[in-house]
Amino acid sequence: MRKAVYPGSFDPVTFGHLDVIRRSAALVDELIVAVLQNNNKNPLFSAQERVKILREVTKDMNNVRVETYSGLSIDFVRKCGAKFLVRGLRAITDFDYELQMAQTNRIMAPDIDTIFLTTSLEYAYLSSSTVKEVAYYGGDISRFVPPEVEKAIVKKMHHGEG
Ligand code: ADP
Repeated sequence: MRKAVYPGSFDPVTFGHLDVIRRSAALVDELIVAVLQNNNKNPLFSAQERVKILREVTKDMNNVRVETYSGLSIDFVRKCGAKFLVRGLRAITDFDYELQMAQTNRIMAPDIDTIFLTTSLEYAYLSSSTVKEVAYYGGDISRFVPPEVEKAIVKKMHHGEG
């Protein structure tokens, strides 16, 4: 069985992430979307909230599973019995960091390959932090995130709930 893991913060998931999820899921038997429990990044949504949202927005994708993890991505990839780590590349600005990480991971785990999917052009500019900033100032984020995310952000920002 061909498995891949797509790790990230997903705080929150955007149409850009969903594009990468949909396209990479089509390449493998099982795709595990792995939500990093990154307490040091001071996320808007807790890891559990991010998982809940991701499960909702991927429920039509039969071979996609959503889990949380902490620690090294490659350790989680191994734990899942996967051989591939998926990352998305938006613009040239992602490249340096992603290349550095992929090369480091390759030294630590030569049995795991990183697969990069370049984003569809319409989502090339999208980032979770921009979405949060626009939402914070009351802007319309419906073109950037699914309705479930929009609802969750509004609830969180204006009522402090998840
Ligand atoms: P991280 O904190 O690990 O960068 P993110 O949730 O921001 O987590 O991103 C996870 C992965 O998704 C990264 O590989 C990132 O480059 C990619 N990604 C983020 N936004 C987009 C987008 N709009 N289009 C394609 N890939 C994206």
